[in-house]
Amino acid sequence: MFDEKYQYTCVDKFLKYVKVDTQSDEESTSFPSTEKQKNLSKALAEELKQMGLNDAHMDEWGYVMATLPSNTNKNVDTIAFIAHVDTSPAVTGKDVNPVINKNYQGGDIKLKNGGWIIKVSDNPELKDMIGYDIITTDGTTLLGADNKAGVAEIMDAVNYWLKHPEVKHGTIKICFTPDEEVGRGTEKIDLKKLSAKYAYTVDGSAKGEIETETFSADMMVIKFIGKNIHPGYAKGQMMNSIKIASSFIDSLPKDKLSPETTEKREGYVHCTSINGNEELSTLKFIIRSFETADLKKFEDILKDLANKAVAKFPGSKVEVEVIEQYRNMKEVLDRHPQVEANAIEALKRLNIKPIMHPIRGGTDGSRLSFMGLPTPNIFAGEHSFHSQLEWVAVQDMHDAVKFIIEIAKVWEELA
Ligand SMILES: [Zn+2]
Repeated sequence: MFDEKYQYTCVDKFLKYVKVDTQSDEESTSFPSTEKQKNLSKALAEELKQMGLNDAHMDEWGYVMATLPSNTNKNVDTIAFIAHVDTSPAVTGKDVNPVINKNYQGGDIKLKNGGWIIKVSDNPELKDMIGYDIITTDGTTLLGADNKAGVAEIMDAVNYWLKHPEVKHGTIKICFTPDEEVGRGTEKIDLKKLSAKYAYTVDGSAKGEIETETFSADMMVIKFIGKNIHPGYAKGQMMNSIKIASSFIDSLPKDKLSPETTEKREGYVHCTSINGNEELSTLKFIIRSFETADLKKFEDILKDLANKAVAKFPGSKVEVEVIEQYRNMKEVLDRHPQVEANAIEALKRLNIKPIMHPIRGGTDGSRLSFMGLPTPNIFAGEHSFHSQLEWVAVQDMHDAVKFIIEIAKVWEELA
């Protein structure tokens, strides 16, 4: 049974962690993308050590790892709990001043600065939060609940386990990663060193969420090569690659296959950038579907349209390159059904209704799953992330801590 008198530490920790600016940078080519992320990672490694996890450390890349030794005679698979320390490049994470709205009584929440309003119409979850304490920003920064709520919850679970040695669990690995927000969170991770068999990223939203399905994703680079010549003498000779690219863009399907016309389980192709001059135009596309086999079909559609575009400009050329990004983690998780089943069992024991829906995006868990560490994503209570409107409820954070503890308990009991 959970010790209902337990004094949670996650909120205090959270309020401390959000004060450290850990914004990652999409443009950077170094790793981690920003050195400042290590300021928090170093502090977390030190904190884990102080708590008694002797092997806690941060490696040269900024990954924090630590082990909570097993306290059972049973042979339990090692599981890891993972969260990321960086915050989104979209909005500044410097000088975050969290505001705790105690005992929320319903209605929209107006932030102190900038005229920002957290609207119930955009956040229907708020309807279930009467009496809760809602942590928001002051309107000048993001909050960083994504994913410092997850970090704080994992740290609190460790604190609970250390205070309650009678709660049995197998070996538990803790891992905090940099650069998730720029899609590079698993780039330098040493899974051998982590040596976990299964893992959970604690980076989901609403209470009850277990995410076991993500998009499969490719990137496609399309280059249109035209022919440049002085525009004053170009008659009958110039082939402006910008015009070829425009013609191609205009031929893309409009009522389907694009982000603004698809939802739920529908995939899409999406142009994310164009760079060009008369000679060369380079277009980047992201290709997304829950069915990996669809990616090839969508890519063939784009290739076909690109060929049709160059056919209108004889002598011009097109070059296409496909780069694999990540794959739907479900393909891996289906082969290890106990990872999802144990999480659902833990929710059931806590009387929390499971919420399962596919993520129209990717997570570090999608990459980790294909690197050999099956890793679904579980809720941390984060809402409206990557913006000034970000918020998290204290009571959801407490439930997330309980959930983490309960998952480990289920693994031990069913071993
Ligand atoms: Zn996140």
